[in-house]
Amino acid sequence: MNAEIIAVGSELLLGQIQNSNATYLSSELSKVGIDVYHHTVVGDNPQRLLDVVKNGLERADLLIFTGGLGPTKDDLTKETVGEATDTPLDYDPETEDRIRHFFAARKRNMTENNRKQALALKGAHIFPNDHGLACGMALEVAGKQLILLPGPPSEMIPMFETYTLPFLLKNVQQQEEIQSKVLRFFDIGESQLVERIDDLIEQQTNPTIAPLASGGEVTLRLTVKGADDRENERHLNRLKQQVLQRVGDFFYGEGDANLATLLVSELTERGLTVGAAESLTGGRFSAALTEVPGVSSVFNGAIVCYSNAVKETTLSVSSQILQKDGAVSASCAKQLAKNVKKTLHSDVGVSFTGVAGPDELEGHSPGTVYIGISTQHITEAYKLHLAGSRENICDRSVKYGLYYLLKDLR
Ligand code: ATP
Ligand code: MG
Repeated sequence: MNAEIIAVGSELLLGQIQNSNATYLSSELSKVGIDVYHHTVVGDNPQRLLDVVKNGLERADLLIFTGGLGPTKDDLTKETVGEATDTPLDYDPETEDRIRHFFAARKRNMTENNRKQALALKGAHIFPNDHGLACGMALEVAGKQLILLPGPPSEMIPMFETYTLPFLLKNVQQQEEIQSKVLRFFDIGESQLVERIDDLIEQQTNPTIAPLASGGEVTLRLTVKGADDRENERHLNRLKQQVLQRVGDFFYGEGDANLATLLVSELTERGLTVGAAESLTGGRFSAALTEVPGVSSVFNGAIVCYSNAVKETTLSVSSQILQKDGAVSASCAKQLAKNVKKTLHSDVGVSFTGVAGPDELEGHSPGTVYIGISTQHITEAYKLHLAGSRENICDRSVKYGLYYLLKDLR
């Protein structure tokens, strides 16, 4: 089974938006073993869209369209797919009802244009839109599947996850199961990590190893194809063990878990709370933690201590340290971590102080960062030299803070 993803919209061709729908769909399809051979982008032009549909029908088994399902004149995907496949359009009564309710609830008139979003290709399987009005659909024509999804990612992604993917898994023939495992690493660069498992990558056939670096982290996706689930799992586990023998020191988690979610579960399990003193990061550490549901039982709060005056008055860093060692120092990071722990009545304190750049501070170059951690037993400071923009340096510092805390707790 091979697929083509067809993004419809002149704004894509004009460079006004990025084709993130294709990126998302490709990544999701690869997880279930559907090979994507082509990405196509076409404007809101009926003739060119028609050519694209015909071309796609010749070369792909599965065509996934995004965009052009809306109420306006330039939304032509259904009409054109209908023309290419000789399929008439008909109103889907459930979608029509949903749209009617939507307008009634808001005491607004439903125009004929709005109703158009309930038009579907006759005989198609309908995907409800829980985040918008236009329904999606799947139509089978001569052994090929054509899937039409709305353009806005906020509608397309939940529709795909909730309705389209289960539909595909049920209706698309698959001889072999695809299983994968994602291993997550931190504090090691991609090239360093890959070098240590070079021979494993060289030998790979099934399972395969795919490294990916992003946001200062490296992930390895191990993927296996095979008819037997348990056999697949065994292969994956064996490869995972081989990988961890080499680079296990940098391994922090598996699957969708990230540093913040893992830290929150670790704190929860141990019944510990954390408080933060954020100079360099200005609140970003708190923002990262508070994205995690259930964080309230482990996160007491943070003090953004940007100026030396706040470090000294609110967090009792001694003026001697600030004058002698400076704010960007291990001793300041330690005092901040220890004192914020006390001030916020938490079990653990963490602090961030450093130079985000672009200018030097206290004679330190941008990227010089100290992270202080004060647990019930010990107070220590980690020194980092990070590169990149102001934003990069702050974001990476936050990740290091999460990582060191997690490591120290474990
Ligand atoms: P609407 O009902 O909003 O008109 P639609 O299904 O007709 O939805 P389009 O009109 O093609 O979709 O696109 C609507 C918006 O969705 C675009 O302005 C853009 O913000 C987003 N969008 C469309 N296609 C893509 C894409 N391929 N990648 C990312 N975003 C997209
Ligand atoms: Mg539209």
